[in-house]
Order: sequence, then structure tokens, then C-alpha cells
Amino acid sequence: MTHRYCAARFPRMPGARPGVKGNRLRLIRETAFKWLNGTTITYAFYDRPARWKAGESQMDVVRRAFALWKSLGIGLEFLEVARVRDADVRIAFDQSDGSWSYVGTDVLNQPRSQPTMNFGWSLTEDPAEGLDTALHEIGHALGFPHEHQNPIAGIEWNEAAVYRSLAAPPNRWSRATTFRNIIEKIAPDTVAGSRWDPNSVMHYPFEAGLILRPERYRRGLTPKGGLSARDRKWVRHFYPPIKAKARRLTPFQSTPLALSSGQQAEFTFTPDATRRYTFATFGEADTHLAIRSVAESPRDAIAEDDDSGTDRNARVTMRLEAGRPVRVQVRMRYIATPGNAAVMAW
Ligand SMILES: [Zn+2]
Repeated sequence: MTHRYCAARFPRMPGARPGVKGNRLRLIRETAFKWLNGTTITYAFYDRPARWKAGESQMDVVRRAFALWKSLGIGLEFLEVARVRDADVRIAFDQSDGSWSYVGTDVLNQPRSQPTMNFGWSLTEDPAEGLDTALHEIGHALGFPHEHQNPIAGIEWNEAAVYRSLAAPPNRWSRATTFRNIIEKIAPDTVAGSRWDPNSVMHYPFEAGLILRPERYRRGLTPKGGLSARDRKWVRHFYPPIKAKARRLTPFQSTPLALSSGQQAEFTFTPDATRRYTFATFGEADTHLAIRSVAESPRDAIAEDDDSGTDRNARVTMRLEAGRPVRVQVRMRYIATPGNAAVMAW
């Protein structure tokens, strides 16, 4: 049988700055569209136009998929809101449009009037496939690419057969869509012992005759279904559980950042006087630094800076009120020597 596939809408990667290449460029790009851990991602379903609306049972599959990702203990929060205009992830069920999603924080770049995720087939007809489809599209919204495009996989395609198969029903894809979602190789991940995971929920099943190598998949490849062990490990790498008590930053004291590339640390800082404060990272590293209010909506970064691909360090200066704590988040996007970086407030 020919499978129905997701046609993800991948963002254009930011251009490389002069001198930024190799491992550093690859790592910066890997977190280019990842959310800061601790973010509450809101989602909503369309109730009009009618062709974008689905019944409760369809929406429940998507809700269950969000809950499954959350049940891994990740630091992101998912919140269903009533109005699509208020949601980061806007979900339609246009049955004429296939299944797809924008990737990671690129959803924030889309017009508020438009969906960022679509389900183009019933999620309840085959319940296991339906749940996997929802897990897969949410995986994109969390910033994950297609696992079968991981160059480590070393998949060698029968390209003519792949283009032919995808041009036919039920997918009816253009060559460009097939290239972007199957043939093209993307940056490999960086989890220790990194390898290909043919059981990832981000991996498509493939019918016989599409894969030439590895030879054992010539007769087809079917992922086990559900979230694989590596899916679980991988999402917790970028979005680890939030510790109940974040470490405190003390003014004028440098705090080491024991982070590898892709990881994030979270601190609290309570100003002892009302004045301007500066927060900065140090070391040969690329960091995304965000200062957020504790009291108000955690969505609102008061200020942020990202030094990725430059030879300066992230630095934010702002006025804070005595006794009103803030959250300080540092995403390590690239570190030359793990451990050789620090953050300080003064
Ligand atoms: Zn996909």
C-alpha cells in the first residue's frame, strides 16, 4: 500500500555568518527554531470555516498526543485556548490539504489568520496511525525534523521510484515537496552516540522498492509506532524537566554553565535595589539569554539577546524593581569546550 505522508513546512535556515562553519554552524542551526524550555505553547482548533473544523473525537486524538509528549516530563507546557487567534499552534482539519506542520518557533512567523498545522485525514479511522500522525505533527511544532532525512541514516533512495510513488494518489506531491520531505538530507542531531532511529515517530514508513540501501529495507520499512526510546531521550535533551527550585544568581558572582550544546539552564534573580542590571554570558560559546518576569505571564520575555554566530557574548541591560524576581534562561546553542562558560548578573 502507498502511505499517506506529512508534508512539513520547513523554515529557511538563517544564513551563515562569515567564519561560522562546520560543527558550530550545524549546532546553531539545530536550535534555530527550538523553543526556550519552560515556554507555554498555546494551541487551538478552528471552528470555522467549516472545512477546517473537526469533531470532538478528532480533536481528542490531538489532545492526547500533546498529553503524551508532556507525559515524558518535558519542561514545555501545552495549553489549549478557545480562540485560534490567541494560539501559537493553530490546528485545522482541511481534508483536501494533507497533513503538515510548521517547525518549532517558525509557527510564530506565520499570519495569525492561518493554520500552522493541518490534519488531512481522519485520525480515528486507524487509531494507532491517527495518534502517530498527531504525535508526528506536534513533533514538528516542537522543532523536530524528519528522521528519515537524517544523513546518519545513510539511506540511499531509488529516487525515480520515490518521486513516482509520491506523485501518485493519495499524496500527489510535486517533485519539490518530495525532495524537501524525503530525499533531502538535513543536519544530523547531536545526542551522544548519535545514530539513525528508524523507529522514531518522526520517521515515515516506506513501501518496498523505495530504499536501495541499507539493503534490509529494500522490502520496506515500518517504524514500530509511538514514541521511540530515542524520541523520548531527544525531546528531554532540548526540553528537560524544570526543577522545582531554580538556582539563584547572586550579583557580581559568576555562575558556571555546565551545559553541552543544545541544553538550557534556568535561574532566578531577585534584585535587592531598584536600578539597572546587566546579565551576560561569558566564554567561547553561542548563547540565547532571556530574562522573563516570574509574576506575570511567563510567555513574555522582558528582554533577550542571542549571540549565535558572532564573536561577542549575549548581554541584556534592563531596569528591575527591588524584590521582584525574574527568571533567567540560557540556551547553550554552541559551546567550544563544554563547561567553559558562565553567566553573571551585576
Ligand atoms: Zn512530517
